[in-house]
Amino acid sequence: MPELPEVETVRRGLLPAMEGRVILRADVRRPDLRWPLPPGMADRLSGQRVERLRRRSKYILADLASGETLLIHLGMSGRMLVSGQVQGRFHHDHPAPEKHDHVVLDMEGGARVTFNDARRFGAMDLWPTATVDLHPLLAQLGPEPFGNDFNEDYLVARLNGRRTPIKTSLLDQRVVAGLGNIYVCEVLHRAGIAPARLSGAIAARRVAGLVPIIRDVLAEAIEAGGSSLRDYRQTGGELGYFQHNFRVYGREGAPCPTPGCDGTIRRSVQAGRSSFHCPRCQR
Ligand SMILES: [Zn+2]
Repeated sequence: MPELPEVETVRRGLLPAMEGRVILRADVRRPDLRWPLPPGMADRLSGQRVERLRRRSKYILADLASGETLLIHLGMSGRMLVSGQVQGRFHHDHPAPEKHDHVVLDMEGGARVTFNDARRFGAMDLWPTATVDLHPLLAQLGPEPFGNDFNEDYLVARLNGRRTPIKTSLLDQRVVAGLGNIYVCEVLHRAGIAPARLSGAIAARRVAGLVPIIRDVLAEAIEAGGSSLRDYRQTGGELGYFQHNFRVYGREGAPCPTPGCDGTIRRSVQAGRSSFHCPRCQR
């Protein structure tokens, strides 16, 4: 499942094809994804300039000249593909749509943007830009990890007295938006905090220390995604899925990468999800 860095990588990959450009033609090839697509979606997209392509949590938001915003969620298996745009030269030999190509956008400039989703857990919606923060999928989201509202004082106050495991707290999208299972495991390892520790029982100094670690871990993953973008041409124009070297996620039985620690990464199950941590240096 794509997490924030993957979604940000997809957004950056879409920028040259979409931002500032008119959607010449939208082809909406089925009535629903996870939920029904908005009525008249193809007509509401066609002819509209994408004024801005931004991200909120794991959602990509395309603000249109019409005053509506196209909200895109990749879900479990959604993929965005860009074809027909090669390093500043544009040509128009697009492949024929495939079975799971559900929404196809032909852009001014010659690029074609395709949303493909075999399992259809993804979602798209159109909503007035002025109130898009109130969209049901966005309204409950907490601050962005790179935003000013997410800071040491905020996190300490938010977790103060909380009797839930720290991992659960960091996965709570109302606490901080966009963190998922993989990166929370990485963050807690770097912070030396055991995932099952109760949030309210962790010293404020250590909770505050999570803020820069969260930003570093996400920024490094976005950086890795950026490297993958440079050669996405070779992978069929598919955006956003890249090889990233995780320190603990998926590394059960491996030696702990913390310098000087001779622990072994252990997998446990917390609230139905896998946790990977080092029992020796995470307390
Ligand atoms: Zn360790």
